[in-house]
Amino acid sequence: MTKLGRELAAKGINVISLSVGEPDFNTPDNVKEAAKQALDDNYTRYSPVPGYPELRQAIVNKLKNENGLDYEPSQIVVSTGAKQSLSNVILTLINPGDEVIIPTPYWVSYSEMVVLAEGKSVFIDTDIDADFKITPEQLEAAITPRTKLFMFSSPCNPTGSVYSKEELAALAKVFEKHPGIFILSDEIYEHINFIDKHESIAQFDSIKDRVIIVNGFSKAYAMTGWRLGYIAANKEIAAANDKLQGQTTSGTCSIAQRAGIVAYNDGLESVQKMKEAFLRRRQLVYDLLNDIPGVKTNLPEGAFYFFPEISSFFGKKDAQGNVIKDSADLALYLLNEGHIATVGGDAFGNNNYIRLSYAASDENLKEALRRMKEALGKLS
Ligand code: PMP
Repeated sequence: MTKLGRELAAKGINVISLSVGEPDFNTPDNVKEAAKQALDDNYTRYSPVPGYPELRQAIVNKLKNENGLDYEPSQIVVSTGAKQSLSNVILTLINPGDEVIIPTPYWVSYSEMVVLAEGKSVFIDTDIDADFKITPEQLEAAITPRTKLFMFSSPCNPTGSVYSKEELAALAKVFEKHPGIFILSDEIYEHINFIDKHESIAQFDSIKDRVIIVNGFSKAYAMTGWRLGYIAANKEIAAANDKLQGQTTSGTCSIAQRAGIVAYNDGLESVQKMKEAFLRRRQLVYDLLNDIPGVKTNLPEGAFYFFPEISSFFGKKDAQGNVIKDSADLALYLLNEGHIATVGGDAFGNNNYIRLSYAASDENLKEALRRMKEALGKLS
């Protein structure tokens, strides 16, 4: 959709993009300065495969100070973005035929990475009435002797849903009964979280050794282009990720790593400012979505997405008589008729929804939601 939107924009049409998954802020100045300094200091050569020791230590400190979690630097593997970390973990853990449980909706690449490893995705469906969160009973029912991994994101892309400590504790209890299952906890949206405190499933000692935290700098520090992520895991998994990465990409960009050290060591001031803007926009979009007949939404507690239900429009026709059959059709209709780019929920494994990113200016959000209301109102 981003690509189609760009094509329309190239024809001179004013397309508002609500389809992208990155903050619309610039990287904080202190982080940019650190990168310039890194160049001047000639951090321009190969770096250690799992990252500079100072960066791994800064990550250990962060996990201790912000999350109350104890790790050693040898348990941290820095990568070329959380995406590479997810891929490293799946490729090292999953053998052909292994089952990976993924709650839907999920971030698009999860299931494709499982395909690459010749594993099998087992989906647990959720819906808006459940705030897109699974229950322990659903988890238990999805587990088989072949289950190797459970993977999820909280805060979630595409729904913005956040699991509470109690909800995570209930899932941890299920994993206690199944000691062969690893848990991949994608916490990339940790800091874009509108409840007081981020909760990691790694906080439960009974399962911590089997939890692999994936996190990075893309969302919290508006550093999507820098490509900097990491895992925190038990030493064996960390060593396997190190080994795989050593034969593929090696250590990630030296300059990005030096900047990452400063980002973590300097604290969360810039993150806080970004979060305030997202909180304001969340309310704006929530109110405007609630004003569109046929659209059902919840109030997400994190990330910068809404995932409203739009299935009431299926079966309706546009002015040319084309029938809207699914979420992809609706997203395409909104692009062509309303000139707003969104993403159909089918890409995330739930067809009855579309994803809207509110990483856009207040004016653009207001105009986009006005166009969305108008375009949907024309379907009959
Ligand atoms: N996990 C989720 C849930 C994401 O939304 C994204 C980015 N869209 C990533 C991982 C990848 O992040 P990175 O830029 O660090 O590779």
